[in-house]
Amino acid sequence: MTGVGSTEPAGEPPIDRRETVARKRDGRELADDDLRDFVLAYARGRVPDYLAAAFLMAAYVRGLSPAETAAMTRAMIDSGVTLPLASVARPKVDKHSTGGVSDGVTLVFAPLAASLGLAVAKLSGRGLGHTGGTLDKLEAIPGLRTDLPPEAVEAQVERVGCVVAGQSADLVPADGALYTLRDATATVSSVPLIAASVMSKKLAVGTDLILLDVKAGSGAFMKTPDDAARLAEACIDLARGWDRRCRAVVTDMSQPLGTAIGNALDVAECVRVLRGEERGRLRDLSIAFAAAALAELGGRAAEAAEREAATALDDGRAARAFADMVEAQGGDPRVIDDPDGVLPRAPVRVDVSSPRSGFLASVDAEALGHAAAALGAGRARKGDSIDPAVGIEFFPKIGDRVDAGEVVARVHARNDDAADVAVDAILAPLAWSNEPVEPPALVHAWVQTQP
Ligand code: URA
Repeated sequence: MTGVGSTEPAGEPPIDRRETVARKRDGRELADDDLRDFVLAYARGRVPDYLAAAFLMAAYVRGLSPAETAAMTRAMIDSGVTLPLASVARPKVDKHSTGGVSDGVTLVFAPLAASLGLAVAKLSGRGLGHTGGTLDKLEAIPGLRTDLPPEAVEAQVERVGCVVAGQSADLVPADGALYTLRDATATVSSVPLIAASVMSKKLAVGTDLILLDVKAGSGAFMKTPDDAARLAEACIDLARGWDRRCRAVVTDMSQPLGTAIGNALDVAECVRVLRGEERGRLRDLSIAFAAAALAELGGRAAEAAEREAATALDDGRAARAFADMVEAQGGDPRVIDDPDGVLPRAPVRVDVSSPRSGFLASVDAEALGHAAAALGAGRARKGDSIDPAVGIEFFPKIGDRVDAGEVVARVHARNDDAADVAVDAILAPLAWSNEPVEPPALVHAWVQTQP
């Protein structure tokens, strides 16, 4: 290190960036150039983690103005290359979730939209903390690769219609670095920081439509629909500033979206949805996103678009598109016909019975996510390895009537001790009612830019 607050390369004068942090700490607005310099310097390894952590906490506590959020987003995009997708002729759509539990929508949406004639180029993330990550789920399929260079992403979208890849060192590297630090410094759940993180990844890719699934509830970073709506507005504002078409929807994360909380388990559930075999919230939300894309990019009326999307799930087209995507990324495409034979399975399975009769009144989705992570399905820190086979299936939804002794969950574990811990963690946070309970709405509200 060549000076406090600076790790400039040898031979270059040290730059003291403490003043940038001090201004934010004191609640003052940062100039675009200072914010840009700080973000780019951090992405290039020229700002030590301790100073960047102080900056993030100041931004978390003081907030960022819309102009600061836009400047930060711009700097994050400019920290790497962009992916214009100029050679892709089909209408292009991207979709992003702000993170939840049992959220396999991307795995269903990408092939579903491709089977409807759209192109999906999706840069996904890994799971962190209690939230699951699409890349971890996909990599449960033997052989499948997500570390694709930008040219391979573009070539696959053109050929197959969809790709789900990881954010590489080339694309928005500042987000990769900052996200890891936010996770380590309790600064994830900030509206402007999430908006800049999500939208830098979306704006770096040249799609015709951005769809955002902004989660609200116990399993989300935003715990209330109002906070989630503020996040949706902040993302939409950024899309407007870049003149990009964007629709955001605030959806329920007060309980797991599907039943599977794990990686291979999630893939198996998505396969059932893609084959038209499983009904429920995961299918409904996947159809809602595909229909929104068809309506915006294909000019369909809302109801016709929903019918078309449902039909593609029921007649096998979406399942075939998934197999094509898996094969193009080096995975075993037989996963669509024989998920149990292809996906890894945990050696210990334990059924969890309800201790009482009643209506399920509430679930702590975050606690379920942590319980699955503790089994090995998630990681405490970025870079930790995960076990693709383990996890939890949680069956009832809020409002369901359950009898004492009925199986409400199944634990998939490496050993009996880990399974016992998970059983307690699953049952402890459940709340029951003797009276009927109204299920929470799946979709709270849509917000959108004008085309
Ligand atoms: N998802 C992202 O991509 N970034 C965040 O900050 C939170 C969720």
